[in-house]
Amino acid sequence: MASSTAITKIDLGADGFKKIASGKVREIFEIDSQTLLFVATDRISAYDVILDNEQFGGFLEVANPQNGDHQGIPQKGALLTQLSAHWFKRIASWLPDLRTHFLSTTLPPDLPTSLPFQQLQNRSMLVDRLRILPLESIVRGYITGSAWAEYIKSGTVHGIPMPKGLRESERLEKPIWTPSTKAEVGGKDENISPDAARELIGEAVARRVEEASLAIYEKAHAYAAERGIIIADTKFEFGGDVETGEVVLVDEVLTPDSSRFWPADQYEVGRSQVSYDKQYLRDWLTSSGLKGKEGVNMPEEVVAETGKKYREAYEKLTDSKWSNTA
Ligand code: ATP
Ligand code: MG
Repeated sequence: MASSTAITKIDLGADGFKKIASGKVREIFEIDSQTLLFVATDRISAYDVILDNEQFGGFLEVANPQNGDHQGIPQKGALLTQLSAHWFKRIASWLPDLRTHFLSTTLPPDLPTSLPFQQLQNRSMLVDRLRILPLESIVRGYITGSAWAEYIKSGTVHGIPMPKGLRESERLEKPIWTPSTKAEVGGKDENISPDAARELIGEAVARRVEEASLAIYEKAHAYAAERGIIIADTKFEFGGDVETGEVVLVDEVLTPDSSRFWPADQYEVGRSQVSYDKQYLRDWLTSSGLKGKEGVNMPEEVVAETGKKYREAYEKLTDSKWSNTA
């Protein structure tokens, strides 16, 4: 597989693996009743709008380099998986009491030989299968995005009263837990108050989710800051172990897709910040009048520049060179 080819769809049905879910970026297959293969494709979403709605809605998909199509970012899926794995290992050492769904990035040796191993390697994780809590557990250390919009309107963030006089992108005195609902594919997540979240998933579970999210954010923020990256906010997901009632960290963690990463050396309070990774794509979509249009093909340059930013984030955060054979 040429490293310049984006892999935007993966189907293992012919190899006997049932696809149990397909998100904007990932395809999830059943290995057995307790284990899933969590595969990140090279798809990329921007602006929460439908750019190519053939099957998934709301994101770019399908690479056909023969036709000059560029609808994914080559190696992005592998990079997201390896970066998540990096964080899962860090989190295990920072917070040994917090269970995560992460098992391994090594494919089990007994998988059928018909599988496209080359396409799966590096972009796949074996994870514990869990019931996912219907909540996006967002932590914000800085006021930006939808939180800034709400603050300007009402002085609150997810209904939480905030101090007066905050400026755009300002660091908050303390990071805050600002959950949202988890919309169905194609829908839009809605910001909710911590109280509404407690009602949704129950007091005890909500407390554990909040504590864990804030604890991870604080550790990761300090870790990234030493490497020139500000984690402005991030989104976690949690699962519940039905048998034990335990709360388990799932999904991807602390990637450019689930977080706002800002280059620390360009940070300036009082304005919006440059998005680390998707700025080229967004600027190009806006300037070429394609924002919100369907079936968009990115020019080669946008693909290359976007890929470069993802690699830069990976390299800074892991202290290592990106290599697709990691
Ligand atoms: P959405 O979460 O709304 O589908 P998404 O587009 O971000 O949005 P992806 O990141 O592409 O989704 O796919 C990941 C999906 O897998 C999410 O729906 C997530 O809730 C689910 N998931 C994550 N970890 C697990 C797990 N351990 N067991 C079952 N499902 C999981
Ligand atoms: Mg996701």
